[in-house]
Amino acid sequence: MLYSDAHLHVNPVKGFGASKIAKKFKSIGGWFISIVSLPPYHYGFTEPSIESYRRVLEILQREASRAREQGLEVAVFMGLHPAEIDYYYKQGVKPDKLAGLVDQVLKLIEDSIKTGVINGIGEVGRQHYGTSPERFVFAETIMVKTLILARDYDVPVQLHTEQGGFATAYSISQLASLVKTPLSRIILHHANLETARWTEYFGIPFTAPVRHFDEKYASHKWINCMIESDFIDDPERPGVAAYPWEIPTVLNKLIEKGVVTEEQVYKIMVDNIARLFRVKPP
Ligand SMILES: [Zn+2]
Ligand SMILES: [Zn+2]
Repeated sequence: MLYSDAHLHVNPVKGFGASKIAKKFKSIGGWFISIVSLPPYHYGFTEPSIESYRRVLEILQREASRAREQGLEVAVFMGLHPAEIDYYYKQGVKPDKLAGLVDQVLKLIEDSIKTGVINGIGEVGRQHYGTSPERFVFAETIMVKTLILARDYDVPVQLHTEQGGFATAYSISQLASLVKTPLSRIILHHANLETARWTEYFGIPFTAPVRHFDEKYASHKWINCMIESDFIDDPERPGVAAYPWEIPTVLNKLIEKGVVTEEQVYKIMVDNIARLFRVKPP
């Protein structure tokens, strides 16, 4: 079996970095990972400036080529996480100033798509935790702008949202239809079972966190499902998310127990990745 991780983070400053992660993942049958940028301050760039984001982009580029050197297929995503909005608000950055920075970052993302340095946008979206309505709407505005970028450049966009079941899936499908972004270019990341059900119902692709992918979750005959570890590569926060190498373990157990067939797992691990990330299957 071949395994993929549709959403993970790498942090060469604090953690393993892509080389080690890719080597280990490859050694147990990994073929594809999607590397998603972390907020600049996770890499130590605390200044709310475009320079911080340029440095994030440099890290992403370098890490992606290190993962490729290990023989993995890699897709690279850069975004502006909703938590970054809270972070800058807490730093006292005024929203009108912040909007200026956001536009600069979106321009950087756009240019990087054009030059092929990144393959898509993410993560962007809405806070999944309690925040102020003002910050929530700010984050959502950024998400809408990136949906437009995803439409214009025909690239995938990975959304981080609240886990609101019907309301979340309905809202995303409505926003996408307003700006005419094909749903096939959207990936709703970290979907719990209830949200995945509605996401699937509306035809939006999603990634299931491997630690939520239990017998109940796995037994559904999903069409647009992929699996993620959402690994954050931060030794100071162990166990916050799963490790990429948990994916084979979990899936093999589900096959052994007869919850899923090898064909179903192949579809999730290979076919869906090739189709939705538009990468060459192994
Ligand atoms: Zn997320
Ligand atoms: Zn993530």
